Amino acid sequence: MQRYFLFVDGERREPDSRQWFNSDNPFTRQPWAEIARGNEVDADLAVRAAHRTFVSGDWRELSASARGQLLCRLADRLASDAARLAEIEVRDNGKLYAEMVGQLSYLPQWYRYYGGLADKIQGDVIPLDKKGYFTFTRREPLGVVAIITPWNSPLMLLAWKLAPALAAGCTAVIKPSEFTSASTLEFVELLHEVGFPRGVVNVVTGFGNEVGSALVSHPLVRKVTFTGADSTGRRINEQAAHDFKHVSLELGGKSPNIVFDDANLDDAVNGAVSGIFAATGQTCIAGSRLLVQSKVHDEVVERVVSLARTAQMGDPMVASTQVGPITTGPQYDKVLHYIDVARNEGAHLALGGHAATRAECGDGWFVEPTIFTGVTNDMRIAQEEVFGPVLSVIRFDAEDEAVAIANDVRFGLGAGVWTSDIGRAFRMSERIESGTVWVNTYRAVSYMSPFGGYKDSGLGRENGIDAVNEYLQTKCVWINT
Ligand code: NAD
Repeated sequence: MQRYFLFVDGERREPDSRQWFNSDNPFTRQPWAEIARGNEVDADLAVRAAHRTFVSGDWRELSASARGQLLCRLADRLASDAARLAEIEVRDNGKLYAEMVGQLSYLPQWYRYYGGLADKIQGDVIPLDKKGYFTFTRREPLGVVAIITPWNSPLMLLAWKLAPALAAGCTAVIKPSEFTSASTLEFVELLHEVGFPRGVVNVVTGFGNEVGSALVSHPLVRKVTFTGADSTGRRINEQAAHDFKHVSLELGGKSPNIVFDDANLDDAVNGAVSGIFAATGQTCIAGSRLLVQSKVHDEVVERVVSLARTAQMGDPMVASTQVGPITTGPQYDKVLHYIDVARNEGAHLALGGHAATRAECGDGWFVEPTIFTGVTNDMRIAQEEVFGPVLSVIRFDAEDEAVAIANDVRFGLGAGVWTSDIGRAFRMSERIESGTVWVNTYRAVSYMSPFGGYKDSGLGRENGIDAVNEYLQTKCVWINT
């Protein structure tokens, strides 16, 4: 079995605990790698290395252009390793190999984009209304950033944070999910191969309440950027508030996917099915509430159920597989629990509703694509994030009612609107409370387009030009002339 070490100050390290834990393959439920179990001693060493490099090391002396060029070199290196990294992620999180190769082939764009931005970060001269001063601003990096990531898209979600942080001139300590640490450890080796100075990027693997918490409370960390569950995000935000750290949070969702009776139903049905069942429903933007206008409700339900029924489940490495396993044992139990909750609440089970026992699913953590109809928005299945292949269908009559249902949830991450009425498209995109609204499409993301949550779905924005500001602070300089 492969053994992975911590990566601190430019080199692999044994963990202080001398302990390792297993990373399991969700398709076989068997361990395939051993991951170093870091603790607060390792977290402290890594933060100190990142801080040393930030205040006095080679990183600080690099010009912004040279920093940008390093990011672009990293992008090229990642592009040549996309297939290898995809295979590692599939072994860890069970997502489809075809999807992961696509995702990781797109990943270098984040490093290229922010590499290009590094030497365009500049301050302003202030046109002051006082005589005798020259006043200008400098845009300065915040310092050491703690990056805490989840298991569903480890390298992609890391890029959303690390690329702008490095472009801004910060240094970083990464704590990947304990379920999917391997690809981040492979990544950091590539980063050093292309010439990043030691200490700029460090990785401490381990558990959230050990390493994660130690990073969030470390006095030399100036920013915490986190993607994961809203309950964890709340804890991190409270802990970081103690010494006024900057915080960005990308949390959960309960996204509405809204089909109006004037929509192109072929597109809407495909968008509804891929919106929830892609990545086995384990995406924060899963379209887990399907709102359908009464006139087309029965037709849409029938077509969504028929399409989902044909989904090929099985080995995520096989090209014909469309739905893979749930990534972790606890998540598998949670999804099955929510199916019971929905049944007990009186929702009507239209498809699935149990663990998958098909031969091609082997020993994996598989749950059948599951669809509940007759859901009302006050049910737990409509309010709480399942993070699995479970769709709740809710019927509505009027546009105002669709808006009210869409917004009647504490999350606000994504929303889909399917309509052929351009006026309605604009009205809905204005009235829906969420960080992204997709019209006649679903789940599209880009390094160029801002992403983040309204309400309990998070704080701050990732991607796009402004994301670099999440890692900068402004200094104002007054010179008495
Ligand atoms: P999680 O919150 O359990 O874990 C995320 C990370 O936080 C892991 O690295 C974990 O070790 C760490 N952690 C746990 N407790 C901690 C603590 N006390 N202090 C510091 N770190 C701690 O989430 P998960 O189960 O890995 O991921 C699933 C969740 O992520 C879902 O709720 C999903 O919606 C969300 N998510 C959000 C986005 C987004 O962009 N908004 C994207 C993907 C996933």
